[in-house]
Amino acid sequence: MASFPHAELARRYCVSDAKFRLSKVNPGDTAGLKSKDKAVDASGAAVTALCELQELLYAQNEWSVLLLFQAMDAAGKDGTIKHVLSGVNPQGCRVATFKAPSPAELSHDFLWRASNVLPHRGEIGVFNRSYYEEVLVVRVHPEFLEKQGLPKPLLPKNIWAERFQSINDFERHLTRSGTVVLKFFLHVSPEEQRKRLLDRLDEKEKNWKFEKGDLKERKLWGQYMTAYEQMVQNTATEFAPWYVVPADHKWFTRLVVSSVVIERMRALGLRVPVLSATEEKEVVAARAALKART
Ligand code: ATP
Ligand code: MG
Repeated sequence: MASFPHAELARRYCVSDAKFRLSKVNPGDTAGLKSKDKAVDASGAAVTALCELQELLYAQNEWSVLLLFQAMDAAGKDGTIKHVLSGVNPQGCRVATFKAPSPAELSHDFLWRASNVLPHRGEIGVFNRSYYEEVLVVRVHPEFLEKQGLPKPLLPKNIWAERFQSINDFERHLTRSGTVVLKFFLHVSPEEQRKRLLDRLDEKEKNWKFEKGDLKERKLWGQYMTAYEQMVQNTATEFAPWYVVPADHKWFTRLVVSSVVIERMRALGLRVPVLSATEEKEVVAARAALKART
């Protein structure tokens, strides 16, 4: 298997307990690496390694892997997903994006739409945004909660604590059922976001990406950061830790995410299925038949 030398990056940004402080993560951090380093050249090796792991995942057909991405606008979710999964067979992948919920989605509990699009066994699933929006955008905009049609007695002050609990229970259930849950918060600085949004306005080919709403949400930066910090503190667990990834340098974000995915998939000890004695006999018979041109 192609080598990929960044196991320490996977550990460096992993959060699995409640003591997390967002102020400790510098969005501009690159762990001392430079974009011209050999380390970054290794991203080709990362693509090959992930491609091989995904083939084994598919062949073994037992585990599934869920890559979940949360971030402020223009933090690089789309580019990271595209880059990290660039060598992977699309047939073994399932990507779901989470926008404002439809009326049908609003008429169910908040985890319903996510459980409908989870990866099958043997697949890598990607959530571009997720049920975590329910403790982020919905928390920053309480009017969205009103639209959810919950019975009034079920709207206590501790609804966010209850949602954290529901999410932890859900992820506990998923991990017990053979889904590896890898959660990435791509942490961009407001200054870098400003530059990227400006780019979308300055370059004609990028104009389509610009959305007025992004400026409105940008004004609520402080409230979003509080919501993100509390989300990580309350849902970073041993079984489903958060990876809080510095996102001011796109090359570095991709390197860290690839490292995590490869490390965690390698740890599964994936193997090609071993045939039973009967199945082996069938292989021998099939080979003989084909050689005899029957
Ligand atoms: P891009 O980087 O291309 O802008 P995006 O993920 O921001 O991608 P958009 O279509 O711009 O995609 O935004 C989706 C919007 O849907 C986000 O603003 C998000 O907060 C919102 N959203 C997602 N889930 C919910 C939810 N449960 N309730 C309300 N809004 C939600
Ligand atoms: Mg957007």
